[in-house]
Amino acid sequence: MLSARFKPYHVPMFIAKYLWYVARRRPVLVHFEVTARCNARCAFCDFWKTPASARQYEVESFADAARYFNPMLVTWTGGEPLLRRDLEELVAAVDRVPGLRYTTLITHGGMLTPERASSLWRAGIHQFNISLDYLDGRHDDARGIPGLTAKIFAVVEGMRARGIDNIRFNTVIKDDNLDQLMPIVERASALGCGVNFSVYTDAKNGNREHLLDAEHHAAVDDAIARLLAYKRRRRGVITSSDAYLERIPRYVRGEITEPCRSGLRTIHLDPTGHVKRCPDFPTDFHWRDFRKYEPIACNKCFYACRGEAQAPLEWSRVQDVMGRPHAMQ
Ligand code: SF4
Ligand code: SF4
Repeated sequence: MLSARFKPYHVPMFIAKYLWYVARRRPVLVHFEVTARCNARCAFCDFWKTPASARQYEVESFADAARYFNPMLVTWTGGEPLLRRDLEELVAAVDRVPGLRYTTLITHGGMLTPERASSLWRAGIHQFNISLDYLDGRHDDARGIPGLTAKIFAVVEGMRARGIDNIRFNTVIKDDNLDQLMPIVERASALGCGVNFSVYTDAKNGNREHLLDAEHHAAVDDAIARLLAYKRRRRGVITSSDAYLERIPRYVRGEITEPCRSGLRTIHLDPTGHVKRCPDFPTDFHWRDFRKYEPIACNKCFYACRGEAQAPLEWSRVQDVMGRPHAMQ
């Protein structure tokens, strides 16, 4: 699914830019981590432990970095990016940088309102990705935000009513939400939204509680088969690539052994403007001193940002981009 702000003729332009960057070994996707602060309380991530004083080190603009890398894709993330009151200014400054670019915002959604979403949409966000791992109260508990799930659905309806046509749920596949994946897809479809999947690992802070170990392998196979079957029937709701989904059962069995290519197609800039190859590695240099990364022998995660970057560009990927979820009922 692609926002109606983009036309079908943009797709070959994006593909051409993508192929050019891959050939030149330049990052296609740059994540701007605007803050390491977060007001959730996830047990599998330590961002929320970042002291409020870290705010003083957060850069005031990512526009020069956007000009330098001129990436095809920009993702605004954190921590919780909505904690930055100047987020619209950050987004708008990058939006003014010339270049064909697709811009996403990742949020837990707890502070998102239709009004704030509209103002970010006007500033240049093309896609909102809201974390959603369960449809029931477990999501509120996991994020430590009472009422979060109900708030997300209310905000999404308000956003859709304001013409924001590109909202996705980011769903992390864990040991205890395999039964939630298809219901989340169906709910997303009813709301006119998409779903991006990723896989839980303990790479963030060593929390092994939700790992998909041997006792879950058969259930993972079944859940992934259902997602792929759904995709074959209808494109545009599940926005994870077929190739990525197909490899998840192999990853949880420990069968994916090739080096990780994080840092080649995707990089992360931390809130101070320093570059890291992936969300869970330390920074290596300031973006002004950027040096190209090489593949690394690390297999700690199979996040979408790793698996999708390594997924081949197949025709089904283009179909995913061109497909539309059902309109809101
Ligand atoms: S996973 Fe996201 S919402 Fe949870 S603490 Fe980390 S940054 Fe915050
Ligand atoms: S596998 Fe790659 S993306 Fe994952 S933690 Fe290791 S280097 Fe980072």
